Amino acid sequence: MNKYISTNRWGTFFGVTQETLDAVWNNLTSSSGDSILYVSMEIGADRDVFHPIKKRLMQTDVDKNSTNMLRHFSKLFLNGPEKIPNYGGGLGILAGDTLKSFADLKIPAIAVSLLYRKGYFSQLVDSRLGQISTATDWSPENTPSLYLMKNPDFPDLPLEIEIPFYERGEQEVLARARLWMKMEVNSNLDYFIPEILLDYSIPSSPEWIRQVSQSLYDSISDQAKAIQRRLLGASIVPIKKVLGLTSKTIHLNEQHGVAVVLNLIAERLAEKFGPAYIDRATDSDIFEAAEDVAKNIVFTIHTPVKAGHDRFNKDLIGQISHSFSSRLLHLLAQDDENPNQYNFTKLAMRVNRAANSVSRLHKAVTQKQFPQFAGKITAITNGVHHLTWISDAKAALYDSFAELKNWRDDPAVFANAGLLFTSEDFRESFEKAWKIDTTKLIDYVNNMLSLHRKQMHETWIDPPNYLSNIENGDQVLSPDVFTIGFARRFSTYKRADLIFDDMDKLAEIIVSNNYPVNFIYAGKAHPSDEPGKSIIKLVLDLQDDLYLKTNGLGKLIFIPGYDMKIAKMMVSGAHAWLNSPKRPLEASGTSGMKAAMNGVPNISTMDGWWVEGYHEGKTGWKFGYESEVENACLSEAPSALLYEQDSASFYQIFPEILAMFYEKRLKSGYVDKCIYNLQYNCPIFNTHRMAAEYAERYNLHLSDQVAKRLEKLRKIYQSDM
Ligand SMILES: *Cc1c(COP(=O)(O)O)cnc(C)c1O
Repeated sequence: MNKYISTNRWGTFFGVTQETLDAVWNNLTSSSGDSILYVSMEIGADRDVFHPIKKRLMQTDVDKNSTNMLRHFSKLFLNGPEKIPNYGGGLGILAGDTLKSFADLKIPAIAVSLLYRKGYFSQLVDSRLGQISTATDWSPENTPSLYLMKNPDFPDLPLEIEIPFYERGEQEVLARARLWMKMEVNSNLDYFIPEILLDYSIPSSPEWIRQVSQSLYDSISDQAKAIQRRLLGASIVPIKKVLGLTSKTIHLNEQHGVAVVLNLIAERLAEKFGPAYIDRATDSDIFEAAEDVAKNIVFTIHTPVKAGHDRFNKDLIGQISHSFSSRLLHLLAQDDENPNQYNFTKLAMRVNRAANSVSRLHKAVTQKQFPQFAGKITAITNGVHHLTWISDAKAALYDSFAELKNWRDDPAVFANAGLLFTSEDFRESFEKAWKIDTTKLIDYVNNMLSLHRKQMHETWIDPPNYLSNIENGDQVLSPDVFTIGFARRFSTYKRADLIFDDMDKLAEIIVSNNYPVNFIYAGKAHPSDEPGKSIIKLVLDLQDDLYLKTNGLGKLIFIPGYDMKIAKMMVSGAHAWLNSPKRPLEASGTSGMKAAMNGVPNISTMDGWWVEGYHEGKTGWKFGYESEVENACLSEAPSALLYEQDSASFYQIFPEILAMFYEKRLKSGYVDKCIYNLQYNCPIFNTHRMAAEYAERYNLHLSDQVAKRLEKLRKIYQSDM
């Protein structure tokens, strides 16, 4: 392992060889500019679910013959904290999964995000109070895979960038950031994607900047939100300069970092007119510069939900940015509905060379929502990083069947799973591996329930689960019981409580057939999302009702503190993955894809990716009203959420699902659905295929080897049709 310590002008890093470090850096700084600069407000890539360096270390003897440096890194990487709390949900995890696939496929890229010293909030759950948000305890200084980048000219000092803010449009105030680097290293440890996390909470930044840069999606005020967006977007040009990056393409993962566009336009104008550009540029010069900048921007929009689109009052923007920014925004980002606001989503929609939605249905929705840009909106359906989300037990299973040989490098080989339908050996082995995953999940839940019971006497938190309060042996969950998983952010349109809408009906289905069911739920609501939090509380309140009405057959569990590790346990251990958003508000959804990677069927409304993953019912079940895509169905008003109608549709299919799982003569049909997931969905809904489709939009000149591999992946699927 000694050779996996490498050094360059920015520091000393562990996990890649000098050759790899140099190759990556050469790509990012080469005069051809064939690399991506990926900008995202959040990046979720916790090391406790995927950690190739640690894996390699565990197979290596680090002993007294090793260098001091290696022993130092080895100790850190084997024992140190593995989480960096800079994701709030699906957007961040998609970013992390994307970067991991870039690394696997050797697509040259670097990512930029912010470093949040308070991270995203931690969730406690109390049965009376519902969700309680608490501070997240972490520090970059103690996180082994984060490196503070050095200033090459003064190696004892950290590298810093600065960006100007303006008080009342003219008076300049500098915000300064240090750069932390994290590496998304691939499984072979022979390529990586650097992620630059900007720490604006440093002594040389003004106090008001430090205040608002500490929490992901700080919701204290619109001003805090606008400042955070600007910290991300306005940092891109200085980062490119200080690191010598040549990336010709900037990928905006959501519009959060779109302020970079304003800097690039100003840069173009300054080239043309010199320092007096502010006075000399006419409106048509500005439009022309914007068109030029657009050639370098790829934009992905992730949601049709209004709260996901950034709109800011003009006064507010005027208070923090230069008056010239306001002029650009006036020309390029005037909100259509509110004359006093700028619409940053519109700006991103306007200034790009490719505008992508994240599923086929979402493309239609986005075209309706932004009719003036309809012609250029395309679809690249999301995916998940298969190596991250396939459980150890399933990975061992896939490894042991020749039909799936090489699935790690090439998820397209899952298409061969069709050959396994007739293999009794595979079917049995699949069920065994599944049982291992289910047992792991159920053990976790049972331990949690008894832990909460004990904690009750030591803390002021009331156990969030009804079953923690009864202690007669019945509270224990069994892995043989049909287990439904549901976990995602709690927001109104996701309708976590949908299937409990008519509890009597649900209970009747369970009781009349004597089919026990575990419902295992998890998820956070943004601290300022009151309706989201009230749905968590509602789910807690339904637990005893379900339990009592089903004579103890129905058990509804809520696992607090949803994160990637819990997600992985749930998507692989559940017997079915439930997804009940109000169509068409779920642009893609990715947790269902994680389930599919593990062969777990989905039960879902026809929304987001499931429209493409459903395959006429071979891979799972659908329910709910399949509305036409119209602006009216984007409403989140309670009456538009169709609780009654869609839950009734669920009750219609639920008995069939239970029977298929429990009745011996039907069970093989259930396993068929699992195998169909491997055959139909694993090859498509992974980030390798997705990255290959993006690479086409990026228009990169890549080495023959890389290009060939991408070409092969693209043959499998074309999202845009
Ligand atoms: C996958 C994942 C999500 C996103 O799930 P959706 O189905 O897209 O809502 C959110 N949080 C965590 C921790 C995840 O792993």
